Amino acid sequence: MLYISFKQYIQHGGCLHNGKGYDMKNVAIIGSTGSIGTQTLEIARANKDINICALSCGSNIELIEKQAREFKPDIVGVWSREDAGRLKLALADMDITVVWGMDGLIQIAEYKTSDILVTAIVGMIGIRPTIAAIKAGKDIALANKETLVTAGHIIMPLAGECGVSILPVDSEHSAIFQSLQGNKHGDIAKILLTASGGPFRGKDREFLKNVTLSDALKHPNWSMGRKITIDSATMVNKGLEVIEAKWLFHVPPENIQVVVQPQSIIHSMVEYKDGAVIAQLGTPDMKLPIQYALFYPDRRYLAGDRLDFEKLTSIAIEKPDMDTFLGLRFAYEAIEKGGSMPTVLNAANEKAVSLFLSEKIRFLDIYEIIRECMDRHRVIENPDIDSILETEKCVYDYIESRW
Ligand code: NAD
Ligand code: MG
Repeated sequence: MLYISFKQYIQHGGCLHNGKGYDMKNVAIIGSTGSIGTQTLEIARANKDINICALSCGSNIELIEKQAREFKPDIVGVWSREDAGRLKLALADMDITVVWGMDGLIQIAEYKTSDILVTAIVGMIGIRPTIAAIKAGKDIALANKETLVTAGHIIMPLAGECGVSILPVDSEHSAIFQSLQGNKHGDIAKILLTASGGPFRGKDREFLKNVTLSDALKHPNWSMGRKITIDSATMVNKGLEVIEAKWLFHVPPENIQVVVQPQSIIHSMVEYKDGAVIAQLGTPDMKLPIQYALFYPDRRYLAGDRLDFEKLTSIAIEKPDMDTFLGLRFAYEAIEKGGSMPTVLNAANEKAVSLFLSEKIRFLDIYEIIRECMDRHRVIENPDIDSILETEKCVYDYIESRW
């Protein structure tokens, strides 16, 4: 468990690990049909000691049926009751339980035989299942950053109490985690969180006024789900990642510096008090952080492109433009205000991005919506899960009434 793990880390001889040993690794996935979910299943396909015991998705029942036929989990879940009915019929020849809704998602998350839950679901909807899994003693391979952004103050201590590991899947956080191996937490000077700068790097506000949805969906380096791709274009993603890093690595925001590395070769770095900077480099491929989280502390062979240092002539670094891309600025402000403010940032962003994805608002309106929601919010200190979800609802209702 990373939050208190640095104490454990020293005690356990440099292994951020809860000491569980596995022969066969039983894996549950929430969000199995998305970008992270399908890449997790590619890892499972290549590693015969992974058993997929539970799968869930929102509404892509065609794909989850195929996944169920290939991986033969005990249980699958979808969001709506109607889709669950259809899936049940489609899988009638197989011995697989079909569940639905939040109760179903929670059943998948805490499924009795799983060792680890991959949270590949998008958005704050991941909060309750992640908490349920931690309480049930499951390790978490965490991709679903929105959960940590809004409920990190609950999740990290809970993981500590329950003795489970929270293993980062986000590429930057995995890179930081890898760069921390063999070092002491007290020796960290700062975290250098890299950003690609997204499709609009180098552009000004005037340019951003007229960008279209398809422009914003063209990420230069990564192929990801639609929501995170838009978050990368606004740099809200990097803002959420600063908050995610704060919780995962227990480092204050003033010691988390974002640097733009347009090629996405350096996935992030840690600077230590003696000036040494340790980085993890590689081609942009999410399968590496997913696999590292699943098999930590072991490394396995992973097929794919390698960096070619004969062809690589330079690795560029730039300063982020926080005046044009306000996502980062909002995040530092949300951390400073604390309490429920990161929830407001996240919820306003989720709603604004969904409006942008359905072409109901323009690109710069995303910033305007977040700004307005943060300005009118009165911070609730130390919010519990109900207050977090109530705050999300208030933000959603407000945006629906205004845009
Ligand atoms: P995606 O949109 O490709 O997939 C999302 C998954 O969540 C799908 O399987 C979808 O069916 C499922 N889902 C949505 N609503 C659901 C519901 N109500 N109930 C059950 N399942 C539901 O998203 P993604 O790009 O894979 O991102 C997933 C998470 O990982 C996000 O939090 C994202 O920020 C994070 N992440 C993604 C990447 C990446 O490369 N894609 C990198 C770093 C972090
Ligand atoms: Mg990332």
